[in-house]
Amino acid sequence: MSNYLDKRLKGLQPYVPGEQLRGRKIIKLNTNESPFPPAPGVRTAVEREIDSLSLYPDISGGSLMTGLAAWLGVGRENVFAGNGSDEILAFLFQGFCPNGAVFADLTYGFYSVYAELYHVDTEIIPLKEDFTIDVKDYANAGRTIFIANPNAPTGIALSRNEVEEIVKSNRDTLVVIDEAYVHFGAESCVSLLEKYDNLMVVGTFSKSRSLAGARLGYAVSSRELIADLERIKFSFNPYNINQMTMAAGTASLSDQDYFDECCVKIADIRSNCISELQSLGFVCTNSSANFVFVRHQARQAQELYLALKEQNILVRWFNKPRIDNYLRISIGSDRDMAVLVEALKVILQVKA
Ligand SMILES: *Cc1c(COP(=O)(O)O)cnc(C)c1O
Repeated sequence: MSNYLDKRLKGLQPYVPGEQLRGRKIIKLNTNESPFPPAPGVRTAVEREIDSLSLYPDISGGSLMTGLAAWLGVGRENVFAGNGSDEILAFLFQGFCPNGAVFADLTYGFYSVYAELYHVDTEIIPLKEDFTIDVKDYANAGRTIFIANPNAPTGIALSRNEVEEIVKSNRDTLVVIDEAYVHFGAESCVSLLEKYDNLMVVGTFSKSRSLAGARLGYAVSSRELIADLERIKFSFNPYNINQMTMAAGTASLSDQDYFDECCVKIADIRSNCISELQSLGFVCTNSSANFVFVRHQARQAQELYLALKEQNILVRWFNKPRIDNYLRISIGSDRDMAVLVEALKVILQVKA
């Protein structure tokens, strides 16, 4: 640390992203990226933008924002776009936690990092023993609530009714539902926005739209909350979405069939993968996401993580209390998962 860093940031522990190894023959199942390419229309849409790269991006968000609003079934004034949903979450921790924040002990790692970065006082609510959320724990929370639904890294989702119960029991407090994985099999809470003005739904193009490298996320909420987010954005970086990403997002939104097809494929591969893993002695959570969260009945997760890595298969192992015997494995292509299962059979010395 230099002498010039704000002392309050001395203890800041940055987010640790999954390893990004490229170039080698790696099967990468550690950061929940999509195994599929972006929608076919994305390539030409991005190429077309090259000629206008000498200009600043369209500040109104143009067709990206109208496309987003139409897809979500809300008005243009109810949506906001961010440089990844991480940027939106950062804005929320920075500006929307007047009484602090509350979130689960096991959830998306960035919540605690942003809380630290922006000096937000935090209350942590442990998940139940089976990693589910007890909705009653969140009644009258008194602080801004952050819930990843489906949760990461467990993949377990609350139903829309359960989320509604939380939103209803916190009428004076903002509830943020992070739906990064919702389209792989959980219920979106966007439709609750008609009834509740203390709800914000955050989503991303990184997982279900195969655009993690483009950095595009969105928030849906009341006109007033979106206007507040815009105020923060315009005080920080008015051009938060670059022109090529806007074009990529718009092209992705215009191909609903491709989106649906990719989400269905992931859900199918996930259920096959769960059966295979169970037959190898793994216990799996009930995941609605594009990853599974598993532990083996006889073998240590860290050992399996290292053995897989030796075979160029990257999965995620968290050296954290309660989950250090679990692996989070992203859903890859059919072939990726077949290679994974074969490697595990060898490691576990299971006879074919
Ligand atoms: C991946 C992820 C995000 C961040 O997505 P970006 O849009 O790529 O910044 C947010 N929340 C959760 C729970 C995630 O898993």
